[in-house]
Amino acid sequence: MEIFGPQSRRNLSSSNGAGTLPTISLYRSAPELEVRLEDFESFAIDRLRVLKGISDGLSRGKKPEEMEILIKDLLKENMRHQDATEVLNKDIISHFALRLVYCRSEDLRKWFLSMESALFRYRFRHLKADAQRAVMGEFDLPYGAVSNVELESIKEKLGQVARSMGQFPPTADAIFYKVPWEDVPELVAGRKVFINQGYAYVAMNQVVLLVATLFRSQLSKALILTNRKWTSSIREDEKHRLTPIVEALSSSYLGPDYSQSSEHGDISLKDIDQIAKSSFPLCMRHLFDKLKEDHHLKHGGRMQLGLFLKGVGLNLDDALAFWRAEFSKKVGLEKFEKEYAYNIRHNYGKEGKRTDYTPYSCHRIISSTPGAGDHHGCPYRHFSEENLRAALGRMGVNSRAMEDVIGKVRNRHYQLACTLTFEALHSMPCDAGINHPNQYFSDSRKILQSKVDSSLQIVIQLDTCELLL
Ligand code: SF4
Repeated sequence: MEIFGPQSRRNLSSSNGAGTLPTISLYRSAPELEVRLEDFESFAIDRLRVLKGISDGLSRGKKPEEMEILIKDLLKENMRHQDATEVLNKDIISHFALRLVYCRSEDLRKWFLSMESALFRYRFRHLKADAQRAVMGEFDLPYGAVSNVELESIKEKLGQVARSMGQFPPTADAIFYKVPWEDVPELVAGRKVFINQGYAYVAMNQVVLLVATLFRSQLSKALILTNRKWTSSIREDEKHRLTPIVEALSSSYLGPDYSQSSEHGDISLKDIDQIAKSSFPLCMRHLFDKLKEDHHLKHGGRMQLGLFLKGVGLNLDDALAFWRAEFSKKVGLEKFEKEYAYNIRHNYGKEGKRTDYTPYSCHRIISSTPGAGDHHGCPYRHFSEENLRAALGRMGVNSRAMEDVIGKVRNRHYQLACTLTFEALHSMPCDAGINHPNQYFSDSRKILQSKVDSSLQIVIQLDTCELLL
């Protein structure tokens, strides 16, 4: 695969003939095609949205049938192309682009392998029987279909297995494969196959397991090879073009940047204490409380909280007044104006390069490394379990929800822990999950505002009733 500038593009579908390609790609080797740099990046981001969505669904414990719907929606939303003949190209380019991104460490490889395998299983299950057989042929599966005569002789046994799983017995034209039983340990352990003389009789709808295992092992080897190529040559050869894109992609935040002030309008200083209690995520609530307590925050904390407040709609004058009121209690007014006010104006793009700085995403906050005396970072990641429990208790998280939150933290699913906290405090699901502190704020305001609106409606209705009586 060659990456080119904006001018050139050679089409895989038209050059290879889309009709002759299998309906799903096995990504065995990078195709001979030219890719525009902007397609390389945007296709990779779209696929990443799909894989991150699958990862989120799995860690939230969604049931298989819910995962089916989720993956279908994710593909529909992200993997389309305005030109239908380009859909396959997009799939292949995005896969190979993310291979570069996710080959570079054991953790990245593991994650990519699991998500790509889940996606492959979904796609294989939704192929027609002919296409499934074509994919099996591509994998050179050494198993033969059971003959009609043999099938007839074991029909009763196959029916018993199907009934034990709550399914209908196989029809006369059903296809089964005879597979050494040790090749399908999952099916054997779950008593989902009939076993006879060392062979398991695997139904066509169970073949996905065999194929997915081969897909996974093939991709796992390919990722190791890609990593070797990446470290030995690609990283250096492409240091001005692909390398920055690849390095940014594995840690990219894919949502809005919240650099503009909140859609709910500005927040005013007089409301900020109450709003912090009801709508700040724990990372910001902790910084806010520490600022009120110590009248000081170190640089990391000032940046994390300051940009968040800017994103939620605190204007520059109010931001200066807010920080001044606290810091002057500790360092005095003069020192505040001399040493701290500049940075606040800088964050709002009024000093220095006049850049409009963006509030930090969860990913950035979770990856930070607070030192002694720092209060920034993500409490789910950086607090001890004891401190986290105490902080969640102060927020009003009940003991049942707290155990769920702590369970996610122990498995290092920090954003999911934050999502569960949000759900417990707002008594509402948050299907998209929490990806940004400003998203937490914005979603919280929406829910709280809609509750106020509906209680106002009830009051108005009651007043109207009284008038009518
Ligand atoms: S998950 Fe995100 S919003 Fe929640 S506490 Fe951590 S950094 Fe803040």
